[in-house]
Amino acid sequence: MSSEKAPSLLPSILKMKCPNCRKGNMFAHKSIFPLGSMLQMPDKCPKCGQEMELEPGFYYGTGYVSYGLTVALLAAVFVAYWVIIGLSYTDNSIFIALSVAVALCLLLQPWIMRMSRVLYLYMFVQFGKGHHHH
Ligand SMILES: [Zn+2]
Repeated sequence: MSSEKAPSLLPSILKMKCPNCRKGNMFAHKSIFPLGSMLQMPDKCPKCGQEMELEPGFYYGTGYVSYGLTVALLAAVFVAYWVIIGLSYTDNSIFIALSVAVALCLLLQPWIMRMSRVLYLYMFVQFGKGHHHH
């Protein structure tokens, strides 16, 4: 048993930290700008050496993850609008709520793309049980 306390899972995911040590950053740049290098990742975690791309093309599967995240976000924004502002059949508030949800999803697309990579790597790499190909 290690006496070192593991950083909690959820904050580590939200801060996009390496799944193996939960300390190193998964992305090379904190800012999403410029967008062209938004998804740049180091080859290995700067803290523990965990490989960020387990095999060539590892992140092709993230399309499904970002699709799921987008749908979940759409639903969440729609429900939040419903609860906070209210929807009615007598005016076009449903269309406004949908537009707001879609606009937010488009705005958050860079975050969704990053988050889907984070979630994807967390599915394959467990804390302290680094995944190495050597
Ligand atoms: Zn690490």
